[in-house]
Amino acid sequence: MFDYMIVGAGFAGSVLAERLAAGMNKKVLIVDRRPHIGGNAYDCYDEHGILIHKYGPHIFHTNSAEIFDYLSRFTAWRQYQHRGARAWMAGWCRSRSTSTRSTNSTGSPWTLKA
Ligand SMILES: Cc1cc2nc3c(=O)[nH]c(=O)nc-3n(C[C@H](O)[C@H](O)[C@H](O)COP(=O)(O)OP(=O)(O)OC[C@H]3O[C@@H](n4cnc5c(N)ncnc54)[C@H](O)[C@@H]3O)c2cc1C
Repeated sequence: MFDYMIVGAGFAGSVLAERLAAGMNKKVLIVDRRPHIGGNAYDCYDEHGILIHKYGPHIFHTNSAEIFDYLSRFTAWRQYQHRGARAWMAGWCRSRSTSTRSTNSTGSPWTLKA
């Protein structure tokens, strides 16, 4: 018997399930129509062994140390920079990596490390 059933194992459902289960000692059933967790941020290795984002590229931005620390309990990190974007936009726009990024508490953008 479950206390809660959560539909959707993306960011929202996964965090809610973890908080209910680990934070409040509730028994949670989480279901998803896709055969994996992670929702639209899901990544996997393709047939060439390259890590891809199945539903489109995702990077993680936060300036919240609390959020960064919480997620660090479940993942390692890989530092990320918009080097391609900088070259692509050179000449007509400031680099997105220096103009619009938000950062973690150490001042760097990060992406999850599989
Ligand atoms: C191309 C793209 C790029 C993005 N890039 C970024 C980025 O770089 N950084 C960033 O922070 N955000 C990015 N986002 C946004 C990010 O994907 C969403 O904010 C995040 O995935 C939302 O999480 P969620 O849990 O609300 O929804 P979702 O990730 O959509 O998860 C919902 C889950 O619920 C399941 N579901 C829905 N309905 C049902 C049902 N009836 N029955 C069973 N299962 C169901 C779905 O299969 C899905 O797995 C991007 C989004 C897209 C599409």
